[in-house]
Amino acid sequence: MAIEAAGLSHVGLVRKHNEDSIFLDQGLGLFVVADGLGGHAAGEVASRIVVERIAKVIESTARQDIKSLPSYDSGYSVNGNRLREAIFDSDRAITDDIVRHPERETMGSTVVACLVEGSKATIAHVGDSRAYLVGEKTIAQVTRDHSWVAEQVANGILTTEEAKRHPFRNVITQALGNGNDLAIDIVDLELKGSDAILLCSDGLSGMVMDEDILSIVKQASNLQVAARGLIDRAIENGGEDNVSVVVLKGDLS
Ligand code: CA
Repeated sequence: MAIEAAGLSHVGLVRKHNEDSIFLDQGLGLFVVADGLGGHAAGEVASRIVVERIAKVIESTARQDIKSLPSYDSGYSVNGNRLREAIFDSDRAITDDIVRHPERETMGSTVVACLVEGSKATIAHVGDSRAYLVGEKTIAQVTRDHSWVAEQVANGILTTEEAKRHPFRNVITQALGNGNDLAIDIVDLELKGSDAILLCSDGLSGMVMDEDILSIVKQASNLQVAARGLIDRAIENGGEDNVSVVVLKGDLS
């Protein structure tokens, strides 16, 4: 068995441009969703820079001694270090692009990336793009949004339901390309049985409830059908934002 994966991205029903970018490479074991910010075509540029730079760094670090990486930190796994280096690199690449194209100064991007090796999955994220672990009967959000409402929920000020409808629900507390220091979250998971990982932009998580995501993935005959079903549901529910999904299963053989 090899890694199985499927991904789709849709402009939605309201926006003129799709500023999300997705990337899937079973050979590298790399899967990425990036949600660009900045409008006027700049968001598209930012999210594309992110997926391209991450792919490049993951490829170039496959056989490298990770201790030689500029961002090496012994507190993280090998693949956690590779993802951190890749995300720092993509952050610098956006900043460099803005220097060359000042008209794009407001651009930035979120990212959620998953690097799979056999049954091990390492997930890194910045912003409010999410990873979920979909088990036999349960769904769990692996990432914690870097967003204002998520902070309020963590502090007990808002409930999860209030956060979903809050006028500030789209305010993120960190993004790639904004020139600030990044706090990248890294999670290492061991996949088993029928576990699937879903990466998505907020155009899915903001439009489709977690229980519905679970039932769509579980009822699908394969991952392509699951990805299509998730996009279709976000559109049915209003498609207010660009919507991107990547679903994958590890190589458990
Ligand atoms: Ca979005």
